[in-house]
Amino acid sequence: MKTPIDQNQVGCRFCGSKDQKEFVAQERMFRLPGSFLYQECLTCGSIQLKKSPENLGSFYPEQYYSFLDLQASPNWKKVLKKIRLKIFLAAGILSPSYGYWLGKVHRRFDQKIADIGCGNGQLLYELHASGYTNLSGFDPFIPENKRLDEGIHLYKMSFDQAEGLYDLIMMHHSFEHLEDPRQVLSTCFEKLNPGGQLLIRCPVADAEVWKEKREYWVQLDAPRHLIIPSVSGLGILADQTGFTLEEVEFDSDAFQFWGTEAYERNQPLDPQQILPVYTSKELKEMKQKALLFNQEGKGDQACFYLTKPIKS
Ligand SMILES: [Zn+2]
Repeated sequence: MKTPIDQNQVGCRFCGSKDQKEFVAQERMFRLPGSFLYQECLTCGSIQLKKSPENLGSFYPEQYYSFLDLQASPNWKKVLKKIRLKIFLAAGILSPSYGYWLGKVHRRFDQKIADIGCGNGQLLYELHASGYTNLSGFDPFIPENKRLDEGIHLYKMSFDQAEGLYDLIMMHHSFEHLEDPRQVLSTCFEKLNPGGQLLIRCPVADAEVWKEKREYWVQLDAPRHLIIPSVSGLGILADQTGFTLEEVEFDSDAFQFWGTEAYERNQPLDPQQILPVYTSKELKEMKQKALLFNQEGKGDQACFYLTKPIKS
């Protein structure tokens, strides 16, 4: 994933089409200066930043990272989390707050799991507290390698440097920060056991809010989001890299509306400033609208479930 993309390569990085429309977007989260040229594929709808700025790192100021301290759970809470997950896996109720998707990717508690872009490792910690025993996180931006507990290791490296094979590779809103989706999928394919699963959660260009609000769409997030697939674009690339795309589940929420409205008002993205503008009734309506959009396949983010065929 570290090899820079060939800038002479033209066309959509998902479907390969050269039929693209260019548009310019601004950094709006912190209102940093600069204009960024994006391409929208007129064939599959995916979006890509045409060329990453040389100083991409400067668009990740300290306040961008949630390098919060890990929230540890006392032992009695871990016992409850284990019980809760067992009920969820058996009966489909009491979905854990950190992962509704877990029901679809659970195989065994000792399955080997990698989280790409793991940050402080909170998600892996929650999985561990719920009973999983073989967890690795990869993130080149964490301060150092760290062992959180027996069975949870965080590595300060990009995933292409990882050793061994995994049963489940996860990317929770890290995929869109990488430049070359074909290389990402190929690397994940190589590092999965046959029958292994890849879970990608990211913004999607099928979003109604993108179609309506264009450059003000909060999850365009120029210039940090280098690629935003459409469902069909990611489907094409999954197919070309050997994966089977089993299911796509939209999981957008009210953020797509209040975040985008803040950008339309030229406000930086500070929930403490933005959210008090709305009544609880308005916020509830936004949540309901997001659920409806998800059902209709036009929410602004989705979860892709891919598998590596047993015979490939
Ligand atoms: Zn395309």
